[in-house]
Amino acid sequence: MSEASAQHTILVVEDDGAVRNLVTTALEMHGYHLDVAVTGEAAVLAAASHHPDLIMLDLGLPDIDGVDVIEKVRGWSAVPIIVISARAEDADKIRALDAGADDYLTKPFSVDELLARVRASLRRSQLAGGGAADESVFENGPLRIDYAAGCAYLGGEQLGLTPTEYKLLALLARNAGKVLTHTFITREIWGTSWDSDIASLRVFMRTLRKKIEADPAHPQLIQTHVGVGYRMQRL
Ligand code: CA
Repeated sequence: MSEASAQHTILVVEDDGAVRNLVTTALEMHGYHLDVAVTGEAAVLAAASHHPDLIMLDLGLPDIDGVDVIEKVRGWSAVPIIVISARAEDADKIRALDAGADDYLTKPFSVDELLARVRASLRRSQLAGGGAADESVFENGPLRIDYAAGCAYLGGEQLGLTPTEYKLLALLARNAGKVLTHTFITREIWGTSWDSDIASLRVFMRTLRKKIEADPAHPQLIQTHVGVGYRMQRL
């Protein structure tokens, strides 16, 4: 239990009583303040009036779609949103990430996984909100990116990246900690998201990893989310 967690309020939006109890009990035990909503409309209202530090949002709600909740909240707030989804809702999970969710948990999940995701999302939002608004140099473990110069370095050595590899690396770095979907990445880089773009993305990711990962078969910097996308981990 840390002092930081005691000051954070988390809005839990879940209509399933068993999952809601698991989530709220785990978070409460770790010192978070809680706010609970069981419908999408109530969630939007609670987000607007109570300004939580993070929202845990189930996608299958009894009234409005969870993705609609994200779109509404994103209209005025950058609060981190972690989506809770069932394995059968893969397409919804991707829609939720594209609508502005930061991360997801797939049911069933462990309490450790839940707490790790919450901590990572809160840290990410604090980094994003705490000064350095237009960060011109990005640092993460051995990786350093000088955005103004358009150069990336690993352990002090300049990387020989192709323009596409650099764009891909910079995009993931600017969103470090957040899962980016294949669709989002290919739209940002090529402006389209055809199957062929997603196939190209895999090829560029492979060549990029060979240049930035100590062991490309077990990547540390960029995580693969099978069927969903990629995330740059904060080291
Ligand atoms: Ca549900």
